[in-house]
Amino acid sequence: MDKVAKIFSSRKIVTYHKVEQMNNLSKHFQLFDKNSIAVTVDDGDISFYNYMFPLLKQRNIPAILFIITELIDTNIPFWWDELVYLLGDAEGEKKVWEVKSWLNKDRVEYLEKLRELSDKPRLEQVQLTTEQLLEMQQAGVIIANHSHTHPMFDKCTAEELKQELQNSKAFFQKHGLNGYELLAYPNGNVNLLAEEIAKQEGIKYAFLFDHQLSDLSGNPYRISRLSVTDQISIGKMRFILSGFHSKLLPLRKKLYNMLKR
Ligand SMILES: [Zn+2]
Repeated sequence: MDKVAKIFSSRKIVTYHKVEQMNNLSKHFQLFDKNSIAVTVDDGDISFYNYMFPLLKQRNIPAILFIITELIDTNIPFWWDELVYLLGDAEGEKKVWEVKSWLNKDRVEYLEKLRELSDKPRLEQVQLTTEQLLEMQQAGVIIANHSHTHPMFDKCTAEELKQELQNSKAFFQKHGLNGYELLAYPNGNVNLLAEEIAKQEGIKYAFLFDHQLSDLSGNPYRISRLSVTDQISIGKMRFILSGFHSKLLPLRKKLYNMLKR
């Protein structure tokens, strides 16, 4: 893992999720200098394997894929996609944000009840397989930890947090995947308890989702990342990589709040 630390200490770290537009993505990757940038991708959507992995490999750009271990080798959907499916787009999108602020237990129970009451057929999603993960690991992608079921870590009890990490650890060990010690907090949510449990459970580096440039001289359990999507234009991507975008955003919010008053 020290190799990883070395790679990431000197780079700008960008974070993608699901990929929908190949075209822009390949433009982004042409812009990226493989010696000064690292790509991280959260959730392990199948689009990573289909679209990003070939481009990353081609350009030799260092990458970490953070997976949700419960979903690998299954057809289980991401829970937020299932929520939108069950409630419909408008209500669903709103509800996803709302339930992220609930206690984890309440979110899980709510979703279970919703599933039971719905007469829609069960939503299925194609998820990555261990075979694909091993192929990518072989090619240099670091397969890392995004928890077992993607709860909000700041809404979990100590017991739930331990369970999440122990279950994902068992999965990593069973399949010979080597990035367990690198954790991206689901949704970037973290508090002191979550940080403490992560340490106890053998996590060495943990990543936020805060749209800031990283500073590895800081806390290794709070590593910043820049938030991007495949929809972003080249111009805006340049701006984000300059670091100014993340400085401007809070200013803009402050200004907005001042004007609102
Ligand atoms: Zn995530």
